[in-house]
Parts: sequence; C-alpha cells; structure tokens
Amino acid sequence: MIVVLKQGITPSEKDKVRSYLTEKGFMVREIVGAQDTVFGAVGTLHIDPRQVELLPGVSSVVPISKPYKLASRELKKEDTIVSVGKVKIGGNRVAVIAGPCAVESYDQVMAIAESVRESGAVMLRGGAFKPRTSPYAFQGLGEEGLKILRKAGDAFDMPITTEVVSPSDVEMMASYIDMFQIGARNMQNFELLKAVGKTGMPVLLKRGLSATIEEWLMAAEYLMASGTDQVVLCERGIRTFEKATRNTLDCSAIPVVQKLTHLPVIGDPSHATGIRDMVAPMSLAIVASGASGVIVEVHNCPEKALSDGPQSLYPSQFSKLMRDIQALCPVVGKSLEKIPRILPGSMKEKGTEVPVSEGALKVAFQGERGAFSELAVRRSFDENVSVLPCHSFQDTFDAVSSGKAKYGVLPVENTLGGTIYDTLDLLAMHPELTVVGEQQVRVIHNLIGMPDAELGDIKKVYSHPQGLAQCTRFLSDELPDAERIPFFDTAGAVSFIAEKKDKSLAAIAGAPAAVYHGLKIIRQGIETDASNYTRFYVITREENAELFRSQSKLNKAAISFSVSDQPGALMDVLKIFADREINMKKLESRPIPGKPWEYLFFLEFQLPEDGSFDDLCKDIKEKCATFRVLGLYASVL
Ligand code: PEP
Ligand code: MN
Repeated sequence: MIVVLKQGITPSEKDKVRSYLTEKGFMVREIVGAQDTVFGAVGTLHIDPRQVELLPGVSSVVPISKPYKLASRELKKEDTIVSVGKVKIGGNRVAVIAGPCAVESYDQVMAIAESVRESGAVMLRGGAFKPRTSPYAFQGLGEEGLKILRKAGDAFDMPITTEVVSPSDVEMMASYIDMFQIGARNMQNFELLKAVGKTGMPVLLKRGLSATIEEWLMAAEYLMASGTDQVVLCERGIRTFEKATRNTLDCSAIPVVQKLTHLPVIGDPSHATGIRDMVAPMSLAIVASGASGVIVEVHNCPEKALSDGPQSLYPSQFSKLMRDIQALCPVVGKSLEKIPRILPGSMKEKGTEVPVSEGALKVAFQGERGAFSELAVRRSFDENVSVLPCHSFQDTFDAVSSGKAKYGVLPVENTLGGTIYDTLDLLAMHPELTVVGEQQVRVIHNLIGMPDAELGDIKKVYSHPQGLAQCTRFLSDELPDAERIPFFDTAGAVSFIAEKKDKSLAAIAGAPAAVYHGLKIIRQGIETDASNYTRFYVITREENAELFRSQSKLNKAAISFSVSDQPGALMDVLKIFADREINMKKLESRPIPGKPWEYLFFLEFQLPEDGSFDDLCKDIKEKCATFRVLGLYASVL
C-alpha cells in the first residue's frame, strides 16, 4: 500500500508511522516525489488501511492494485533515474551501451571499447560468463574476462556491465563491475535475483524468452524487494512463431512498461533480431518507442567473433547509428546521454575572486520552475543539479557574473522564432562571461489545466505570445471561442493557473511545468509545427571555463567583432573563413548601444580541427575594429 504523508509531518511522527508499519511486518520504502512524500509498504499481511490512516501525519492510504508493488508506477509517479557510475539511465535521456557479446581477449575488448566510446557510447558491455545454448560453445573467460572488462572501462572512462549466471559469483563480480546483467534465460532464476538484489547495485534485467510483461515486472520486484532500487529493464525480443529473425522485438512493450513502472526500459536490437543489418533500424525503432536507451553488440572483427558475430555491428556501422540516434533524440523529446563533463556534486573549485561558495553548484536560467530553459539545464548538467530561476535574462547574466550561480543556461535561437537577441546583447555587455556549452530542446507544447479540467471547460488560454502563436491551429480548431491571453512566460502561465485553481483556465507550456505544479495535461503536443527547437548556450565566468571545456571535444566557436565603416570591410573578414574552408554556422548583426548606425557582428563557426584557431583569430583581428571570442564549445547539433 501507499501511505501518503502530510506535507507538515514532523520527523517523530514519521518515525512512528515507519515503526508501526515495520512492526506489522511491512517492508517500508520512503519515496520523495515532486508533490508528496510517501511510504511504500509491502508485505504479506493484510491490515485495515483505516488503522494506518488514523496515525498522526498520515494523509491517506492507497492500495497498490498490481502484483508488483515497489516497481509499480502507482507507488512512484516520477521516472526512476538509475545511476551507473557517472552515467544516468532514465528520464529524458537515451543512453547507449555497446560492446562485444563476449569478452574474448584484452586486445579485442580494448579496441572495441575505444571505438564505441569515440562514437558516443556511455557504457561498455561484454559477457564473461556466457549462458550458451550448446555446452560445446564458448562459455566465456570468467573472472579473467571481468578483469579485462574493468581495465577497458577504466581506460576509456566508461562504466561496465556484464551478465551474472550464478548466485555464488555475485560477490566476486561486484568487486569488478558497475552493473549486473540478468540474462533472458535467467529472468526467473529467483535465487539469482535475490542474490543480485541484495548488493543494492544497478541491474540490467533482460526480459525472459517467453515472459509476459507482468512476469518481467515481477522479476524486477524480486530485485527491488531484495534491496536494490536501481533496476533497468531491457526488451530483447521474445519467442514467437516467427522464424525470420532470431526473436521478435516487442517494441510495443516499451510504452506499455513505461506506463506500468517508474523503472527505465531500454531495448536490445542485437539479440532481438540476430541479424546485423536489422540492428540499426530496430535501434531507431526502440528509441522512437520511448525507450531510455539501447544495448548494442559491436565487434571489431565480427567474422571471427566467438559468439553472436552475425548480429554484431562493425565499429563504422555503430558510429553511423550513433549519429542517427542523436538526430532522432530531440524528435522524441530526449537527449543523448553523454559521459558527463561535470559532476555537480564533485566539482573542484578553482581559486577565484568571486565568492562562489553559495553558487558553486547552481545553474541559473530565466523563467519559472518547469520552463523549457530548466529542461535545457537538466540536460546539460544533471537531473538533480540545483537551479536558480531568474526573472529576466539580465538577472540570469547577473547571477552568473556575481557568482550566485556558477553557470547560466540561456536560449539563443528558436527554429521558428529566430534569434533571441537579448542573449546576444547581454553577452556583449558581459566580457567576464563566456560560452562553454550548447544544448538543444524540442519545444513540445501542451494544454495544461486543473486536474479535473476537460477540454470543454476551457474559456481562457494563457501563454507566452510565442506559445500562443505556435499553437494557433489547435486553438482555432479545438478552442475557437477561448480567449488567448499573453503571459510573461510559458511556465509562469502554468503557475498562475495553479494559483487560481479555476478549471476554466488553461496554459500552454512544456510538460515539466505541469508535473511541477501538479496540474493535468489536457492535450499533448499541440504545436502547429513539430520541428520546433530551441538552442541554448551554457555560460560561465571565464575562470570556470577550462574545467567545463576540458571534458568534451570542442567543435564550435562563437565570436563577436565590429569593422570600420567602409566598403568591403565585412567581406574582408568573411573571406578569411572562405579561404580557410571553415564552415560558418550563423551570422547576426546587432546595433551597438551609444553608437548609432554601428553594428556588432556575431558569428558561429565550426572549429578547425587542425588547431589553427589562434592563427585564425589573429587574421580576423587584423581586419576588425573590435574582436572577442565569445566561447568555444561542443555542439550538440
Ligand atoms: C547478452 O546480452 O549477451 C545475452 C546473452 O542476452 P540475452 O540474455 O538477452 O539473450
Ligand atoms: Mn550476445
């Protein structure tokens, strides 16, 4: 059952509720959600829920209808984000795990690890204990294989996952690996599930060869009841009458499972199809189905692979697949998980004159909680990074400049609305700040109202003028009589509705704003044009830039410059780019305050790979009246 606690419950009341439940034989898990804190109480005994409801500090008691309890979405509404080392699986990210089917040798794993990491995989896989159909097939290198995998993971800074087949190996394996894998053949090996669950470590739980979704979730429940809450489910194809592929990839299981459980689900296109050529299209299908990632077999020489060669991708195929997944992610409102550049909890402060202690781990953005900018913050840093919502763009810049926040994330361009000039103008006014990163968010608008509101109730719709403009088709077709009222920002409009508690009012905003304020999404994806993306800059003070930049491969630069008022002056600068065959990505001009009819140019371009950036800057400077490097960053586009 779910015991919902009152918002003002005291610590001693909380302890009493917990003790009451444990004394009655329940296992109690505390779950802190955006709205409520609840106790999930799971046990074999039945007690009258009213007895619990009478305890001080308890708001209500709700039974869990499903046979799986801890894994159930009824118990925990928010997505669980599983942490495997620095890598996170779940929420709005797509994590790609890659590696060979089996660890065969040191050289083999090192070569594959290097190439998959270079292409963008965030975790390394490889079997050391192989549960093969035939006893005469290669059974894996055992502990020796784990040592190799560990070395490769450390060398290329990737957490590692590998299959466990016996409860007696669990302890030994735990000292080498970051995540256990329970294979399809062992999904209902309950002794194994219990032993692995007890470690509290992350587990990748494959769906059994002919397991129903409920049986699969019950297996997850075994793991959770034994002590881990870090479970990732993996759809890897099921047995059907179809023989054309090794198994039948059950893509529809992905959205089903995501409704039923808060645990992340990923897909395995390699074992699902058994055929190399089908791995890429099925990987995309898995991502399109809403999965939190894929696990893919890659081999440097599949013809010689000791197991599953025919389904293993060549490194070049994997690299192409990664680019396709990256392109698909924003379409489904996700971003590709990268090995994080910054771990907010473990950042080392550098000496600086600015008092950063307060803002050390904070990221500023403009807007209210749940704004699209906050989504960009969480994608650039971490789900749990602490944020500083600011009223205006200027406040956001000031917060970063003064050290109240270490980083700021600001929109710079929208694919429909064009450049956001405020950001460029403020950058020009803040020479102490620099651009260190870029992020992209797909703008998916929703009609958001009170929990009991239906479409027919809505009389007034509030949103940022852009939000209203971007949903005109929906508004004209579905709510022709509703008044459209411009608001300062989209998430602010949601907070306004939450305050008014009036079911005839609705806002247009992103889904996180609805979740944050506990409101209902009445209609999803109501934007007229689905290709609506906003690009953000991550900014910081110059002295923090190195730390951020050192952890990613920089490939883009932004500069600003002005030229003298004479024929061909701008052309002279642009010619430098043409002569050096450097690809320009964006050019803007802005008036210079206090200098009527003079302009500052903003230019973004692809960073030359030959290290000639300083040289290039020198050439440009010679042709300019003023020149500044606004930033170097890794482009996500
Ligand atoms: C594997 O991932 O190597 C494997 C054996 O997968 P499954 O358990 O899904 O067959
Ligand atoms: Mn395999």
